[in-house]
Amino acid sequence: MITRFAPSPTGPLHLGHAYSAIVAHDLARGQGGAFLLRIEDIDRSRARETWEQQIYDDLSWLGLQWDAAPVRQSDHLTRYRSALNELWCSGYLYPCNCRRADIAAAVNAPQEGAPLLGPDGVIYPRLCYVPTTHHSRVADDMPSDAVLRLDMTAAVAALEVDKTPITYTNNGAPVQITAPQLVNTVGDVVLARRDMGTSYHLSVVVDDAAQGITDVVRGEDLESATAIHVVLQRLLNLPTPQYHHHRLIRDDAGKRLAKRDDARALSNYRAQGLSSADIRRLIGL
Ligand code: GLU
Repeated sequence: MITRFAPSPTGPLHLGHAYSAIVAHDLARGQGGAFLLRIEDIDRSRARETWEQQIYDDLSWLGLQWDAAPVRQSDHLTRYRSALNELWCSGYLYPCNCRRADIAAAVNAPQEGAPLLGPDGVIYPRLCYVPTTHHSRVADDMPSDAVLRLDMTAAVAALEVDKTPITYTNNGAPVQITAPQLVNTVGDVVLARRDMGTSYHLSVVVDDAAQGITDVVRGEDLESATAIHVVLQRLLNLPTPQYHHHRLIRDDAGKRLAKRDDARALSNYRAQGLSSADIRRLIGL
């Protein structure tokens, strides 16, 4: 078994991160497996080296050891590029020039009814979609500075999801996703952002495979993204790990913790003299 913790260095780790990291670590250790660390720093406008250093310090303080050098996503932009190239040449991507306002205007048009929400916000109304045949596509034609969207309709057709639904396991139970669910409740998500040349969805799938992750442990807030990840694994011929989406740690008012919630930052507890055993108790582990 190989698990991972994959934080973004965009702020201090809090109790929710501690929960995720400890569950992933203990799951692997309990099976004699490996626990890996990945720094998800593709958002260069928000990632900071000081936060990355603090991740190492916080995890060490929690007593969690990772088994290989941490993978830093910003060091692997070429592997996201080659996955995008593969999807582009197979005809699963199209460029999108919409501004937020264009999308909002289209989905809020009176005849459209209430806009449907997917994992990344409103379901994209395919304003920039133009039919293409993959035979006409070569890697050199892929725009390098454009937003690229997944053509979910084409993906669903190629994977024959109408005949065989996409499946994966979540917390040991089978989950099935049908073709209409993918097209209507996930839609044409962004796989390459203009400023990054990749996206969270694409990088996480490519890296989970590259690191040989067998079991993904993460908060249930990311559960709705799993359908996208499994579709990408199928399109890119990558293995699908087992998923373990866990409960979220909430503040006293029941709100989930955010990076800006400094009071629950691990560094704060550390400064107050708490131990890693105290943290485990605080989060019910
Ligand atoms: N980097 C993501 C986060 O910090 C987690 C990614 C994942 O576990 O798939 O929320």
